[in-house]
Amino acid sequence: MIRLVVVGAAGRMGRAVEAAAAGASDVTVKARVDRAENWEAGSGVWSATLEECLERGDVVVEFSSPEGAAAAARACAARGAALVSGTTGLTAAEEAAVREAAARVAVLRAANFSLGIAALRRALAAALDALPAAWDVEIVERHHRRKLDSPSGTALALAREAAARRGLGEDAFIYGRHGRVGARAAAEIGVHAVRGGSWVGDHEVLLAGEGEWIELRHVASDRAAFAHGALAAARFVATAPPGLYTLDAVLGGPQRA
Ligand code: NAD
Repeated sequence: MIRLVVVGAAGRMGRAVEAAAAGASDVTVKARVDRAENWEAGSGVWSATLEECLERGDVVVEFSSPEGAAAAARACAARGAALVSGTTGLTAAEEAAVREAAARVAVLRAANFSLGIAALRRALAAALDALPAAWDVEIVERHHRRKLDSPSGTALALAREAAARRGLGEDAFIYGRHGRVGARAAAEIGVHAVRGGSWVGDHEVLLAGEGEWIELRHVASDRAAFAHGALAAARFVATAPPGLYTLDAVLGGPQRA
């Protein structure tokens, strides 16, 4: 039985992970970590910090905040617990804290745990390889009005992968357009964030040529899509050696980040 400790347990994703775990016979939620004002009475063990409840061999599943992700990484490394981390919008220093933890324990990080996005990324790589470099790449993402970071971590990951295949750096990213910006350069990758309502997650990659275009689109309509991917990741890190892994490790394909 895999013992999970859910960080950000009172949040939208934390609750989705709890629901997915309730339907799985090989995992059990041992403890929930969140700010005390968000604890839900009558729903198991709650703690304000991982230090209060984490033991060697536990698996932490973290969807909280950038500082929560870095703190979880440090606690996992100190206690010998594996980590599945899904928070987006980390600073370089917070990403470094996660990488440092991966030297001591198994860490799987993904900006998007849905299996459909993993398939979209592979489809995008294949499409870019098949198309002339003159085709324009534009990424449009939509999320609910409460999302804190823009553009989404998934949109950035898609943009980075498209840029790498085109031999471009992040200076090629254009975040929205406004005013007389002039003609579009071939080396641009447009990234556009739309916010509103309760959209769970919608990513479109538009590949536009002369007189034709392709749209690759993934829509997550329920957080269960991410939660089931996170549980698959938890099963993987429960037995994996120390290292920084991506969702590809779960799907088959390149193993290390
Ligand atoms: P949310 O605001 O609904 O929930 C976050 C929860 O974390 C809150 O209950 C908050 O109190 C708690 N929290 C924040 N900092 C904490 C800390 N230091 N220690 C303990 N608890 C802490 O947010 P959400 O929609 O569940 O999203 C959380 C994060 O996950 C965001 O960064 C979001 O972008 C990301 N996300 C990732 C995926 C993915 O597949 N990787 C999918 C959805 C959301």
